[in-house]
Parts: sequence; structure tokens; C-alpha cells
Amino acid sequence: MKKQQFTLIYLLLTALIIISSFSCETDNSINYTHTDPIIDVPEFNRDSAFSYVQKQVDFGPRVPETKEHNACADWLKKKFDSFGWNTKFQEADVTGFDDQPMHIKNIIATINPELKTRVLLCAHWDTRRIADQDTENKEKPILGADDGGSGVAVLIELARAISTKEINLGIDIVLFDAEDQGESSNAKGEYRKETWCIGSQHWSKNMHTMAKKPYMGILFDMVGSKGARFPREGLSVRHAAGVVNQVWGEALGLGYSDLFVNDKFHELVDDHLFINDIAKIPTIDIINLPTNPTANGTFGHYWHTHKDNMSIIDKHTLGAVGDVIIQVLYKNSAGIL
Ligand SMILES: [Zn+2]
Repeated sequence: MKKQQFTLIYLLLTALIIISSFSCETDNSINYTHTDPIIDVPEFNRDSAFSYVQKQVDFGPRVPETKEHNACADWLKKKFDSFGWNTKFQEADVTGFDDQPMHIKNIIATINPELKTRVLLCAHWDTRRIADQDTENKEKPILGADDGGSGVAVLIELARAISTKEINLGIDIVLFDAEDQGESSNAKGEYRKETWCIGSQHWSKNMHTMAKKPYMGILFDMVGSKGARFPREGLSVRHAAGVVNQVWGEALGLGYSDLFVNDKFHELVDDHLFINDIAKIPTIDIINLPTNPTANGTFGHYWHTHKDNMSIIDKHTLGAVGDVIIQVLYKNSAGIL
């Protein structure tokens, strides 16, 4: 083979390798369509959202069947009521993570109950009973500023903002209890997913009592930390690709694609799994999944440790999530999305 021919083949091969690695990457990303224009929506106040995280943390850990949990539940109900939402508890005696009876309390706030076109917005409000990913005080419950607090705070502030401007959409906000009490794995090394997300399992099994079923759902889990990163989680893409496109598309339009990144992540066990499987509402999960997972798994370095406190919470992240969702909601209301 002449040197010239060799160089040509070498160049062609290099080009082929570059092209094929590029297509691997594009397999994992999509072209979002952002629907212009950005419409006029009520302001999502990030300072308020931050204060709602603080307020929950001030109660202490919100572990089911504790007085802190009960006190926080009463405050949450009053808060949604104060914005004119119709709020109630869905209480139940269920089997807990340890196969023992457990009393749980989901919190459901509703606006525009007469409208058939409805959206589900949800988060878990309980916090983990142990800090099993920490190196110290593993047996003590966590404050759950991000894991529990942030999703709820975004929903409270959304409820406040929506109460200031009419929306042609029914909205059901559900705060699930007992999402985070599950078993990491049992003595046999088995992972029992049904020990997690107990509140959302209960709601999903009983939501047939709702007269009007939401056509889409958005779950908020760990949506308030500094430098958060929200890739498109796999189960969300499989069940609710249209909702993913709406949210990531609006994030792009608002300049938040540094948070709502164009990467796909594998499927997670979270409340949306049971909502999709049992209630059959196409529901996505907005959840912080850092680029470089630490030794303790796929989540943030603070996950299920005592570092999950106010020091990791960032107004910018809370505000970005709120801005995107309020745009999505009012565009759905206007029939634009
Ligand atoms: Zn958790």
C-alpha cells in the first residue's frame, strides 16, 4: 500500500469513528421544540420558595407517625387553604417498609374542581428515618431540605402564584407520604421496590374515586440544590415523552438548559413509577442526578445524609424549576402546548 493511499484510508476511518461516536451521542439526546412566545405568567417568587423549604426544615425531620410530621402536615394544609385551594388529608393504615402497620397522610390540594382537563403536580413530603448513606449518626433521621423539602416548597409557591391569575386548567397537587422510608436492600440482598413510595402507591390504587383523572403529571424530587442537574429520566421518557418535551423545551426557551440538560438517564424507582403503572397517568420525574455520581450512588453527595440541610439549597435552582413549570401550565391552559 502506498503511503498516500494509507493516509487516505486512515483519514476515512478516523472520520467514520468520529461520525459514529457522534451518532451515539445524538441517540441519547433529542431536539427540543420550544413553543414561542414566552407567555405572560404570574411571578414564581424564589425567595418565597426558599422560605418554604426553611419552614419545613424548622419542624425537624418529617418521619411518619412523629409529632414533627403531624405539625408539618397541619401547616401544609393551612398554607394551601390560605391560597384558596381546597385541601384535604388522605389518611390510611398501610403496611410499612418493615412489614409493620404504618399510618400515613397524603395531602391533596385542588383548584378548579369542576374542570375535566386536569394536571397532577406532586412531591413527597416525608423525610428519611435514617441517614444510611452517611458515615456518622446513620440511625438518626435526616432534615431532608432537598429530599422532601424542595419539591414541596416549589408546589406551595406554584399554588400561591396560580391563585393570583386565573388558569383554565384543573390542578391536583398531591404531597405523598412515606416515599422515603424504604429498605435499601434486605438481609438477603434483595431490593424490594414496594417498600418505597408507599403514599403514592396508596393514592394510585385509590384515585379511581377522583371524578376527573389528570391527563399528565409532574413529580418534583430533589429540585432545590446548588448546581442541580436534571437529565431526562428513563421511565419518564418511556411513559410520558410528550410531557418531557414540554418541560425540557420550555427550559430551553427560558435559558435553563444548564439545569435541564439534554441527556438521558436510566429508569428510577420513584413515585412516578407507581403513578404510571397503577394510576396510568403519564407522569415525569424532575430529579437531581449529578454528572459524576459519588460513591453513594446516582444522586447528590448529600443524598440520605445529614448534609441534606439548608446549606445545599439554592434559590436559583428552585426559581428555575418554578419558572419552567408555570410557563408549561399556563401554555397548557391557553392550548399552546
Ligand atoms: Zn430520598
